[in-house]
Amino acid sequence: MTVSNTFNGITLALSKGRIFEETLPLLAAAGIEPAESPESSRKLIIETNRADVRLVIIRASDTPTYVQYGAADLGIAGKDVLIEHGGTGLYQPVDLNIAKCRMSVAVPAGFDYEAAVQRGGRIRVASKYVRIAREHFAAKGMHVDLIKLYGSMELAPLVGLADVIVDLVSTGGTLRANKLQEVEEIMQISSRLVVNQAALKMKRELLQPVIEAFAGAVKS
Ligand code: ATP
Ligand code: MG
Repeated sequence: MTVSNTFNGITLALSKGRIFEETLPLLAAAGIEPAESPESSRKLIIETNRADVRLVIIRASDTPTYVQYGAADLGIAGKDVLIEHGGTGLYQPVDLNIAKCRMSVAVPAGFDYEAAVQRGGRIRVASKYVRIAREHFAAKGMHVDLIKLYGSMELAPLVGLADVIVDLVSTGGTLRANKLQEVEEIMQISSRLVVNQAALKMKRELLQPVIEAFAGAVKS
């Protein structure tokens, strides 16, 4: 790494919200306790009970980038985010089985998805997950126009921006609230541990016990 970084311990990249909350028990299993909560603190670097372990708090979709460049030695990211990023330079040793949901196709009530698929016509698909969406429809032999959005995908079909959306679903509550129906599951999603490949070689004595503690604490 060419950029200055004087910290010699392990830097773990996490995002706020569900990933942070669901990672706490895994950290505890590795003997790591954050000094404060990112939900109440505005700090982006959070110390822990261990002088050689710190957390950096970033947007979920930035986690693979921090780990790829070695700014974080390891991180926790959803399979959705990892596929969109491409995973270059990342070692993915453990499926942590946290932040579970599914990637699905949803349509507004009244849109005949089966007929649209059979006709093989062109449909407009709005999603934050353009790579997953493109590969899904390509595998079905469908031509789609992809519209990249950064949030609130549910709105797109309601105002005529797209015919269908590809989005994460857990309970289905947000879809129901917007009169959308889940018509096809693309894949199950959970969060994985990702490790910088160079860090794994250079800091193996520090990283290996943490990786093993995380793996040992995974609930099936
Ligand atoms: P941001 O809110 O910063 O734009 P994001 O929406 O991707 O990013 P989160 O909502 O914290 O961030 O989601 C983080 C990860 O948790 C996602 O990448 C996904 O793997 C998973 N996830 C997203 N929504 C759900 C959900 N409803 N239930 C369970 N897991 C989810
Ligand atoms: Mg979110």
